[in-house]
Order: sequence, then structure tokens, then C-alpha cells
Amino acid sequence: ITGQRSLGSKVWDIDGNEYIDISMGFGVHLFGHSEPFIMSALEGQLQRGFQIGPLSQFSDKVALLISELTGMERVCFANSGTEAVMTAIRLARATTGRNLIVIFKDAYHGHFDGVLAVATKNQGQSGAAPMAPGVTQNAVNNVLVLAYDDPASLEVIQAHAHELAAVVVEPVPSRRPDVQPTEFLQQLRQLTQEIDAALIFDEVITGFRIHPGGAQAWFGVEADIATYGKIVGGGMPIGVIAGKAMYLDGIDGGSWNYGDESYPAAETTFFAGTFSRNPLAMAAAHAVLSEVKSAGLPLYQRLNQRTTELAQTVNAFFTAAEVPIQIVNFG
Ligand code: PLP
Repeated sequence: ITGQRSLGSKVWDIDGNEYIDISMGFGVHLFGHSEPFIMSALEGQLQRGFQIGPLSQFSDKVALLISELTGMERVCFANSGTEAVMTAIRLARATTGRNLIVIFKDAYHGHFDGVLAVATKNQGQSGAAPMAPGVTQNAVNNVLVLAYDDPASLEVIQAHAHELAAVVVEPVPSRRPDVQPTEFLQQLRQLTQEIDAALIFDEVITGFRIHPGGAQAWFGVEADIATYGKIVGGGMPIGVIAGKAMYLDGIDGGSWNYGDESYPAAETTFFAGTFSRNPLAMAAAHAVLSEVKSAGLPLYQRLNQRTTELAQTVNAFFTAAEVPIQIVNFG
């Protein structure tokens, strides 16, 4: 479909056909297409130009909003969910000094080589192989792909405790929205804490969707690092890495003050991106997150309730029409 314009729930193609966008831009447009408060923030920024290099006047405000809504200490911006996950994993490896990461079957974490892995079993040992041609075995050698919401995976994690940098989890896999494993997430939290590995919540989809505080708030589980994207940018490309200072300080060395002897003392890893903190993305993110903050929990309660009603209505229709399909939903 070649899009021509969009408004609210609708997209029109270049032949004038009208569509209801049931995925709302791959999950980006929480407030609808061409939402006036987002359009006006973008138009305002267009008038002022888009300076690449200097900080955007909104970047500190957006970081503060994310910190306030998610409870994370520090916030850093990239250009996509893929970049956010890649950076989160690099920070976890840099901080822990370990290489191995655990990801789970059915999760999607974007398209950088280091997560494009499928599970293997060799003489009872879990491992990983490339998911697609062009991804090298080397890229996934330090990855274990385990079954999600399965107590046996906790045992494998425990067995690799000494070499594990991070457990990366898509709290509710977008491919399996019916899997909502509160207990497993709590067990992962406890175990990763015990073995000093980072718990990374990939909230690129769940973030600012299920609750203003995302899956962390919904499940009552505090991650060490969380990644966000999609909704945050209001349609502009964005990725967010948020987390505890002990990990995020690997970006800039940590906080320091002018005029005293403090300096950014933490050891840093490599981080870059010509377009990171792009002024248009920051202006749109500021508009989106200000709205998320002021609309608050009632917005999400209403949205979740309406979505459940939609699922029930569609399922009732499937049953009545004897169509052997049932849809499942998470918010
Ligand atoms: N993580 C999750 C959970 C996602 O759903 C996605 C994209 O769908 C990504 C990461 C990658 O984000 P992006 O497509 O912005 O690179």
C-alpha cells in the first residue's frame, strides 16, 4: 500500500482507497494519525529548523518526563528500537565485564545481528545459531535463546551465572500477547539480582501503551535497563535507553558539576548517532509524553477496556460464524 495521507484511525492510498489502520503505524500512533497536538509540535519545530549537533531544547525535558513516568534514573536517546536494544546490551556487557546474554523464543528485539538468533541444543547444552543468512555464528556466540515463562530456563540462567551480562526480555511478546507471566518476571528479577546480571526490559511495544509506566509498572517489576521507541516519537524515528545510573553512566561517564573537583568518572563504552536527539523527534516526543503525563492512568484504563471489548466482540462474531479463530490481547 502506498500511503498518501492519514487522519485519526484512517489511511488513504494513492488510488484514493480508505483503510482502517488496525496496527496504527506498527504500534506508533497511540493518539491517532495526524494528531493535532503532535502536528503542531512538529510544525513549531519546522519553523525553527532542525539543528543537528546542538542539543534540542526539548531533550532534557523529554528525558525528565521518561524518568518521571518510568522511574528510571537516567535516559539516553537513539534513533530506533533496534539501536536502543543494541546499546542496552552493550552497556550491560561493559558494566558487568561479562559477555553472555539470554533472550527468549518468540521475542522480537529488532534487527541488529547480536539478537538475530534461534535456539539450539547440543548434547543437552542450550546455545544459539544465526536466524538468517548473513548473520554470522560469531555474532550470536554469546547468546542463549531459552523458552519463555518456563522454570527450566531459570535453571539454565543459574548455571551460567558467572558469565551472564544480561537477561533481555520482551515482557509480553508481541507475537504471543496471551503470555503475561507476572511470576516468571518476578523470578527473573530476583535471580538476576542474585547473580549481578542486568535485567533488560525491551518495552519498545509495551512502553507507554499498557500503563504510563509501561510493563514495569504493570507487573510491578523494576528492570535495570528498559528500552523504548515507537509511541514515544509520535511517528518520528526514536529509540530510548533508560535505566540505573550504574549502567547508563557507561554512555557519558556519569554526572558531575562545574566548579568543583567532580568529573565524569565512570568508564564509558562507545555510543554515537548523527541523528540521535533529532530536534523533530524530540519536539514530537515532548508533545506525546506531556500528553501521557497529563492524561495519566485513566487514558490507559479506558483504552485497555475498549480493546478488551473489541476483542470480545470480534471473538463473539467468530464463534457465531463458526470461524475457528480467537484473538487474544494485552491491553
Ligand atoms: N523491540 C521490540 C519489542 C519491538 O517490537 C521492535 C519493533 O517492532 C523493536 C525492538 C525494534 O524497533 P525498531 O523497529 O524501531 O528498530
